[in-house]
Amino acid sequence: MNDPLARYSRQMILPGWGREGQERLACRTATVVGCGALGSHIAAHLVRIGVGHVIVADRDFVEMHNLPRQALYTEQDAAEGVPKAVAAARRLRQINSLVKVEERVVDVDADTVEELIGRADVIFDGADNFEVRYLVNEACVKHRIPWVYGGVLGTYGLSAAIVPGETPCLRCLLGPMPTPGSVPTCETAGVLGPAVATVAALEVAEGLKILLDQRQALLHSLVMVDLWSGDFERVQTAKGAEACPVCDERQFEMLTAQHGCWTEVLCGRGAVQITPRPAPSVDLEAIAQRLAEMGPVTSNDYLLRFSAEGCEVTLFRDGRAIVKGAPGTAEARALYARYIGS
Ligand SMILES: [Zn+2]
Repeated sequence: MNDPLARYSRQMILPGWGREGQERLACRTATVVGCGALGSHIAAHLVRIGVGHVIVADRDFVEMHNLPRQALYTEQDAAEGVPKAVAAARRLRQINSLVKVEERVVDVDADTVEELIGRADVIFDGADNFEVRYLVNEACVKHRIPWVYGGVLGTYGLSAAIVPGETPCLRCLLGPMPTPGSVPTCETAGVLGPAVATVAALEVAEGLKILLDQRQALLHSLVMVDLWSGDFERVQTAKGAEACPVCDERQFEMLTAQHGCWTEVLCGRGAVQITPRPAPSVDLEAIAQRLAEMGPVTSNDYLLRFSAEGCEVTLFRDGRAIVKGAPGTAEARALYARYIGS
């Protein structure tokens, strides 16, 4: 009979891995928060390697300008405007049918983060902003779930594994959350695909040590790499003397922040996201029919898109909308209220 693990033979002969390690991986769950450039590479590694259950969460849809870095997507995904989580899951299932892949088209926020991370043995950072990272940090510290931080900007990137109770948390490492607009973003500074691939590889390697119960091999370091200058640096991390509000005092400010409908300017995209809370269940077909009287509406199983008053509006099934071209959040909300309902 065919051995289902035979496909993993080249990794099972690695030191300390073996069939036992492979079988252990098959029983483990990993969540990838954000499935853009970093998340694509991370999820592909996890699924190829045979982690039993991989959850990919992302709020966005595929666009042509994603393709230079976001390894799981195709021109067809962009043309159809498929949500990234859906397109990713579709591709990941083709890569390894032994893995249970679960897609979540969701905005990771204070309302959704705890449920999303709660079932996982390790969380991987594929986010593109600090709000989500600091939120994931709080949730992981609260529930004592290990996670691996990673970030890329330009040709430079960095990564560190965070094990609550054992290592410093993100707040310990980076201090208070940078205020929006105070740090450059990929939209303003650009991003080099191979730098993303490198940081994703660093994240996955640390995460695998956790999944394989080889925590003694964790680097306990912040690893920094610049692929263009060729600088590689590793700085040992340790808890400082000063008490951390998150992992020492267990103040979870972001987790307990006011829940409810909110708007967020999507950095560098000229777009505003509107997230009604509690998340309503939206009848996309009925709304599409209604809007079609006004002008062209495109839709697929997960979203619909229409233009109104010079803006492009993308509405997801969870009631969330991304409004492109609105001058501000107030205008975007007004547009939402007018065309979709408040
Ligand atoms: Zn801390």
